[in-house]
Formats: sequence, C-alpha cells, structure tokens
Amino acid sequence: MSELFLYNTLSRELEKFIPLKTDLVGLYTCGPTVYNFAHIGNLRTYLFEDILKRVLVYNGYTVQHVMNITDVGHLAGDTDNGEDKMEEGSKREGRSAWDLAEFYTAAFKKDLINLNIIEPTIWCKATDNVPEQIELIKTLETRGYTYLTPDGVYFDTAKFPEYNKLSHLNLDELREGARVAKNEAKRNATDFALWKFSPVGAKRQMEWESPWGVGFPGWHIECSAMSLKYLSPNLDLHCGGIDHINVHHTNEIAQSEAATGRPFFKYWLHGAFLNIAGGKKMAKSDGNFLTLDNAFIKKGINPLAYRYAILNVHYRKPMEYSKEIIKNAENGWDHLRHQVNDLGTEVGKIGKEYKYKFLETINNDLNLPQALAVASEMLKSKLSDADKLATVLDFDLVLGLELAEKIPAEIMALAEEREEARIAKDWSRSDELRQIIEDQGYLLKDGPNGFTLMKK
Ligand code: AMP
Ligand code: ZN
Repeated sequence: MSELFLYNTLSRELEKFIPLKTDLVGLYTCGPTVYNFAHIGNLRTYLFEDILKRVLVYNGYTVQHVMNITDVGHLAGDTDNGEDKMEEGSKREGRSAWDLAEFYTAAFKKDLINLNIIEPTIWCKATDNVPEQIELIKTLETRGYTYLTPDGVYFDTAKFPEYNKLSHLNLDELREGARVAKNEAKRNATDFALWKFSPVGAKRQMEWESPWGVGFPGWHIECSAMSLKYLSPNLDLHCGGIDHINVHHTNEIAQSEAATGRPFFKYWLHGAFLNIAGGKKMAKSDGNFLTLDNAFIKKGINPLAYRYAILNVHYRKPMEYSKEIIKNAENGWDHLRHQVNDLGTEVGKIGKEYKYKFLETINNDLNLPQALAVASEMLKSKLSDADKLATVLDFDLVLGLELAEKIPAEIMALAEEREEARIAKDWSRSDELRQIIEDQGYLLKDGPNGFTLMKK
C-alpha cells in the first residue's frame, strides 16, 4: 500500500499523513465570505481542497469535512479597521446583510455543484455560532490572553511565544506586515480583534450582546470556535489559500492553542493563487475578477473544463489565468471524454499496475498533473477496452471529471434511430435526428464501432 505524503506548511516539509485518531479524518476548509460571488481564484482553492478530500477517501479514510460560511466580521482591510464586508455589501446592493448572505451562499453552492466539488459533511455559519465564539473569548480572557481597547477585545500576541510557527517569519517581519493600518490602542501590531464593539451611536444590522458590550466577533475566532466544536478530537487537516498563512491561520492557531492548551490542527495545507496576467492575484476587491458564470457558463464552456485546467497545475504552483489556458483545457477534457466514450460500455477489471501507479502519484503531495499523465498512458496501453473503462472510472473518483456520464434513454433511442437511418442511407432523416440530439445538448460522433454520445 502506498503511503500518503503531504506538504505541511507548519513544518515546511513533506510529511507522511498519519491521522490523529482513527480512520476518521477531520478536514476544515475556510469557506467564503458571502458578500459577493466567488471568483475563479477562490474556486481554485476549493478545487484543490476537493482533490485532497477525494485522495483521502481513495486511500480508504472516512472524511468529516467542515466548511464555514463567513457571514459577519470579516473587515475590508483584514486589519481590524475597515468596514465589515457584509455591511459594505449590503449598502452596495441595497439589501439586508442577511439577504446578501443567503443569496451569495446559494450562488457559492451552485458553483461547487457545477465544478463537481463534493459538498462538505457540515456547513456552518459564523452567525449561527456566536455563543461558541463568546465562550472561547471568555476562556482566553480567564487565561490572561486578552485586553480591552475602546473598539474591542484584543488578543495579546506577545503572550503566545510560538506566534510565528506557521508563517516562519520573524516577529519583526510579521509586525511590519500588520502595521499598514495603525491602531494606536493595540499593544503589538500583530494583535487582533476577538470581539469588536458596534460603533457608538450607530446600529449595525448584525450585532449581539456580549460580556464586553454589544458588537460582533472578529473574523478569525469563528474558524477556531467552529473547528473545535465540529471536529474535536479529529483536528487533522486545515486548509485555505496561501494568503491565509500569515494572518488568518496564524491567529487561529494562537487563540486556539492559548485557549485549549493543546496543539490545534496537525497538518496545514495551502493552495497557491490563480493570478491574472503579470502575476497579480485575482482579488474580489479589484475589478479583475472572473466568476464561473461569466468566464465559463455564459460563454458555453462547461465548468469542468476549468476543473481540468486546475488539475493540470500542481496546487502549490501559482497559475496564470488566460483564455488560451482555458481553450487548451477545454480541448484536453473533450479529448479525454472522447477517448473514454470510445471504450464502449462494458466495464471490466481495474488494471492493478496502473491503479498502483496512479495511487503513488496522487499520494506524492497530490501530484495531479502526473496522475493525468498516468491516465493517458493507461488509455494507450494494451489493456482491453473494458478494463481501461473500469480503470479510468476508478481514477475519476479522484479526478471528478465526469468521464463517463449516463446518457438518458430517450437520447439513446434517438441515436439508435439515427444510426438505422444512416445505415439505410436516409441522409435527410439522419441529419434531422442528429440536429434534434444536438438541440438537447448532446454530441454524436461516428466511429469504427458505431456511434458515441456525450454531453456538450
Ligand atoms: P475569501 O472568500 O476571500 O475569504 O477567500 C476564500 C478562499 O479563496 C480562501 O481560502 C483564500 O485563501 C482563497 N483565495 C483568495 N484569492 C485567491 C486566488 N487569487 N487564487 C486562489 N485562491 C484564492
Ligand atoms: Zn478560516
């Protein structure tokens, strides 16, 4: 059996994956801030996490996957100043922060379905877990890690000596990074808000009573409270994009370990960015962001072509978005599906040699570009078509490219009828039937062994 190795940001090394407890593996992935659509950069991170989860399942683990929805407390500048992104979005769109959250959460879930991303076992919202966050802050207060300022309750990072263990930056560098927007009331530049007070004289849409005053939780505390609540004692893997390393995840570790006195998650995995031309990060705050809808669906490109593009670049390598990359991915995915379709419908036995090669490749820190090469090699091999089909369907449990889809019976019947017309050289009927099939969203291709059908 091949062992699974993953790159842990905490140790900066490839580590053998050993679950903390049993074969039940806890996976926490930081979810979206629902003030806008997810852009395809965000979705790259969710695709990487989906691959990770599928690889764990392929290795025989049962995965308990928790994803949060940030619907309060994420401030515009990530610096504890700025406005709450939800309240800001609510003004922009002229609807309540609660409606905004509901709308963009639904849009996000639709993106996941379109990309064939498996749903988390548990969805949890920050606003549904405010008492848990208050409890955690109370524990930190009792243990002496907090202090009060005019705008909220803060975590004193100087009291947590291992504050830089995830970022590996020296404290001066971290403090420099946090100094962008100065808050004079903070003891250290890296200190962060656990609880923020509502502005004096103004009522926020989302606010709660607390022992310190009416206000709302800071962004980082939600992930600590919810991962401890839903995943303890299986705090195995925690993921996000690389922008989460220096602040969000660093703060999550500090406050969780300070509160529990125990190590927080064992493995920390981070996905590299999707950049736009010139190496600039695709970001919601800039005008440069593309959604699955405007970059793919509205252009008639199946979102799974994006999934295929993502699989072709290792998750720790930056990727530059271009129309050409997407065109190539569309062709590549199409070609692969045609190859699979041409194998017929008889499912044989999984080719052991190729399965092992595939497993070894994905277990090497999720080397999916190489795994696609193994799939392609297998499809060109001497295995019978039936065995190739069995093997590629097995690989698709990880790839998630919907390589063999079920064609509805009525489309199948139309195709059979068209085949008869073609054999009878009734070209006009044959063309007519082909058109009907295409209008229903299917492509029909003639091959040496008859026709193949696939979704457009
Ligand atoms: P947010 O909704 O801004 O909290 O981001 C959701 C997820 O997307 C986080 O895990 C971020 O680290 C990640 N992310 C943000 N921008 C990008 C990008 N350009 N490429 C890849 N991942 C990103
Ligand atoms: Zn988080």
